[in-house]
Parts: sequence; C-alpha cells; structure tokens
Amino acid sequence: MNIKKQRLLTAGPTPLYPKALQAMMGADLHHRTQDFREIVLSCIAGLKSALGTTSDALILTASGTGAMEASVTNCFSPGDRVIVCSAGKFGERWLEMTKAYGLDVVALTAPYGSHVAVEELEKALAANPGVRGVFVQASESSTGAAHDVKAMGLAIKATNPDALFVIDAITGIGTMPLDIDAWGLDLVVGGSQKAFMIPPGLAFLFVSPKAWARMETAKLPRYYFDLRREQKNAVKGESSWTPATSLILGLAEVLKYIETFGPGKQGMDKLVENAQHLAAATRLAATTLGLELFAPSLPSAAVTAILAPKGMSSGVIVKEYRQKFGSIINDGQGEMKGKIFRVAHLGYFDVVDLFGIIAQLELILDANGFPVKLGTGVAAVQKYYAEKVVGSKQTVTA
Ligand SMILES: *Cc1c(COP(=O)(O)O)cnc(C)c1O
Repeated sequence: MNIKKQRLLTAGPTPLYPKALQAMMGADLHHRTQDFREIVLSCIAGLKSALGTTSDALILTASGTGAMEASVTNCFSPGDRVIVCSAGKFGERWLEMTKAYGLDVVALTAPYGSHVAVEELEKALAANPGVRGVFVQASESSTGAAHDVKAMGLAIKATNPDALFVIDAITGIGTMPLDIDAWGLDLVVGGSQKAFMIPPGLAFLFVSPKAWARMETAKLPRYYFDLRREQKNAVKGESSWTPATSLILGLAEVLKYIETFGPGKQGMDKLVENAQHLAAATRLAATTLGLELFAPSLPSAAVTAILAPKGMSSGVIVKEYRQKFGSIINDGQGEMKGKIFRVAHLGYFDVVDLFGIIAQLELILDANGFPVKLGTGVAAVQKYYAEKVVGSKQTVTA
C-alpha cells in the first residue's frame, strides 16, 4: 500500500468544508462594493441567527486571539479588578493578556484536565464585590475540559450584574449549547478555523448591550480593534480595514450549510449534537480500549484528550498517525506534551472519520506492544452510532 491521504484531524485548524473552499476562490472582488457588502451583511445576520442572539455580531480579520484582545482593550480600564478562571493553556492566555494590559487580576486556577467550579467563582465574586469582569474558556481546547458557562453566567448576574462576562468560546461555539442572551454572556469570542470549517483568519465577537455601554467609559488604548468604529462600519456591510475577503466568502457558504440542518439556532443545535455524539463515542472507544481520559469530570465535545498508555509517549502516537496513515492529530501542549493526545470533533467531522481515527489508534497501540483486541474500539463506535444516533431497535452486539 502506497497511498496515504493527508487528513487534517486537529481541533483547529479543522477539516475544511469543500463548498466553502470552492467559494473562497471567488475572491477576485473588491470589498467596497455592493455585492460584497451584501455577503458581509448576510454573514452577520447568519451568525446572530445561528447563535440565536440579539447581541451584535462582529467579524474581525484576525485569529481568535485578536477578538480576545479586543474584548480586553475595548471594555476595561487600567487597574480594573477582574476574575480570570484558568484551567489550561488558553486560560493562561487570558491571564497573560489581562495582566499585560494592567488589569488587577484575581486568578482562579484549576489543574489541567479539571475546570474551575461555579462555587469557586461565587466565592471570588463575594470576596471581590468591585470586580469589573470575569473571563473564562467555554471549552479549554488544551485539556479537553469544559466550563459550566450557564451556571457561571447566572452566578454573575445574581451577585454582580455590573461585571462583564467574557467568554472564549472559540471551541465552545458549535460544540455546546450557548444561550448568549439568557445566560448573560457579554462578550463571546469565536474563530473561523474551529467549528466554522474554514481556514484561520477570522475572529467573531458577539457584543451585548451591557458591553457596548461599558465601552463608553473604558480607558484602555485601542486602535486596530476599535469595536465602536467597527460596528459603525458593520451595519453597512463594511469593516474599518481590508477584510479577509476569501474567508468571508467561505463563511457565507458554511452558514448556508448549517442552515440545511435546520433554520436559525436549530441548525447550530444540530452541529452541536454532531460534535457531542462524536465526543461521547470517542470516550466510549477510548475506555473500551483500556485508555484513560484526561478530563473525565466535565469533558468538552470539541476535543477529547486521552492519556497515552503507561510507558509510551503520546508523541509516538501522534507521529505514527502521520507517518503510517497521513493523519494529523494533536499532541498535548506545554507540560502535557508527550502525555496526552487529542482527538477533535468540532465542525466538519463525521462518524466515518471517527471509525478511521479509532482504527488507526488500535493499530498504533498494537504495533507498540500495548495489548488491544483489534476492532473493539471501532465496534464501540459502531454500537454507539447504531444505538444512540440511528436509534436502532435491534440489539447491537459489539
Ligand atoms: C484556538 C483557540 C484560541 C485562539 O487561537 P488563535 O490561534 O488565536 O486562533 C483561543 N482559545 C481557544 C480555547 C482555542 O481553542
């Protein structure tokens, strides 16, 4: 056998939606034209409708971190006390960023693989009544853990309704329910290369009325990401600077694709359900193979982190996926490198991808002397699919 197809199976960039890729080739157009303005306006409307929110949606030309930074610089002033909930590499990004901008940071940290409990946040809110904002990851992609954003939002509303709730939902959107309006999510950040199935380069930001009001008094300097200027342009289908036109053409196709699952928020709910099924089937396959999950207590449906078997580096697993099969999967980041490997579910992943991912894993484990009965992990996914997705009435034996 000589053919090995390259397959991008990481949690970002994620597999690309083919029709979006084709649409991106139509980028020989100018962004200050009526045709393009209409596409931008349709994307903004599509984002709001998919998320089912009355918050304003902004499309920024940047990677996701750009919109994270825009949330900080537009809504806070030097010395503002804020709470940062951090349980992984992306939580640490919030910590570094808020400190870099001179905010007075109360850090609530949880060990990698775990999450910051709502009770911890409640205690910190009670101890710091003047807090101006709370930062968290909906899904911490570095560990595969989620946060209970709903309970956190309701706790903030109940104890300190002036604080802004800022959510890095870059791998949360499309993998978990997010009720922006009902849960009080003031700034919600997304990114194109995650569940949106297009390449990196666009960041999304959902901005609540409360966040807009805060911008009137917030003092941190800002220039490229001046959200009030951006919004003035966005209502006309424009942006302050030259946008990533090709990505916006791709985004329009993806939003249409999600609409085929159901109108408005129902389409997004289906995308979430898809990721949740794949994540649940992956956890089942991993434990069936005798492997241990890294974030078992509140797992994210964006990505499943699995511990490498004892005596084996996850780097070997990641390398063999690529060398033997052409598949690109993620190793751990930072201290987790060599210990965990990560299987992604967000965006354009289906159950056939998962059959392949688990079959490869079995072969890799077997080749490295880890005892597996070939086919048992794949059978677990098949059984999950037949029973939970198709809802088969007949007994499925695995
Ligand atoms: C991918 C990701 C980001 C943003 O990374 P960029 O490289 O700036 O796009 C931030 N937070 C989480 C949780 C992510 O998964």
